[in-house]
Amino acid sequence: MSTNNHEYRRDLQQDARAWARFTDTNYTAALRQMTSPLAQGFLGARVGARDLIAVLEDHPLVGADDDGPLLSDNGFYADEPWVFNGKTDYIELAMIIDMLRMFTPTPPGEEPEVSSYTLKHTAESFLAPHCTYVSNGRMIWAAAALDLPMVEPDGGSLNLLIGVAEREHDYVSRTVRDGHRRPQAHHFRPEAFIYLTSALDCAAAGEFIDSRWVQRTPVREAAHFHDWLVLQSSRNDPIGDFAVDYTAGVHDSDHRAARTPDELLSILYDVSHSPEAYDAAVRAIADWMSTSPLAAPIRTDRLRSDSHDVAGWGAGAGTVERDEFRCPCGDGAIIEEHENVPGFREHNVWLDCDKCRAEWRFVDGRSARQWGLVPATA
Ligand SMILES: [Zn+2]
Repeated sequence: MSTNNHEYRRDLQQDARAWARFTDTNYTAALRQMTSPLAQGFLGARVGARDLIAVLEDHPLVGADDDGPLLSDNGFYADEPWVFNGKTDYIELAMIIDMLRMFTPTPPGEEPEVSSYTLKHTAESFLAPHCTYVSNGRMIWAAAALDLPMVEPDGGSLNLLIGVAEREHDYVSRTVRDGHRRPQAHHFRPEAFIYLTSALDCAAAGEFIDSRWVQRTPVREAAHFHDWLVLQSSRNDPIGDFAVDYTAGVHDSDHRAARTPDELLSILYDVSHSPEAYDAAVRAIADWMSTSPLAAPIRTDRLRSDSHDVAGWGAGAGTVERDEFRCPCGDGAIIEEHENVPGFREHNVWLDCDKCRAEWRFVDGRSARQWGLVPATA
């Protein structure tokens, strides 16, 4: 056994002794918990049992005061002592800690918004079947162990407000809790959500996970059109109304953000909307194109491609290629056709939709394959 291994082992044993004392259970049962695959720490280092116990003494908000402990299962300033089952208490706390690690902490200067009581329900659904009951007090305990921002709501309560990203929590809660409207887009999904879900399943099957979770540095992709469209919400016209609905849809994870007008049309194909909303979108795109030097003509989603052989006109056989794309409104198509026959080559592109023919035009000076559309008014 190497020195490191030896030290690790001794650390676990000391933890087990402290936990056995604290929860009034026997050493072997406590050591079994310390060494459980589910308590190994998936999104960060294992939080030791002695550290957890110390939090209840020393934490600036929930640590004990002169009159004794401030926290127990029911929450902040609850009177009754903790109830430990002696079998899974430490493992469950370790899993709640990992679940909280998944969320981006509230930045300094921003008020925590998510109630410990709401988070406890999310944890129960997310951690099921590995842990199906999480007390309000243990949720607060885990948050305190991670040093997450926490505040007492106005008027005092057994619940505290915990500083995790509210939108990320909303996404996870709606994804894991039955009967909640499931998100249709994933821009608020915590980066570790899928990793943690599968790591817990592997650990429950007895595996120790060797590969550590590595947080990627988030890259904010340029989204000039999105940023511009959100700003149009203050306008008092149909584009303003459309921008308000669009912004709410992104906020509620009903659809993704549109980095470009192409992506906005793509979103409109999938999301039910009124004809007036589509017309406002086209006007918004025309506005964006006439005001932004960054605007590019739109391209739409490809529907199908097809190529067939033709006999030719005396100089040998050739092919005709045909590509179909959605038209902007989605009811028709843009058709690109290429005849590649020796002695006869022709390339064409046209709009096979009466509505779009009236509202859009191809930009000049591009080949059939490079077509791009702009609103007729732009
Ligand atoms: Zn159309």
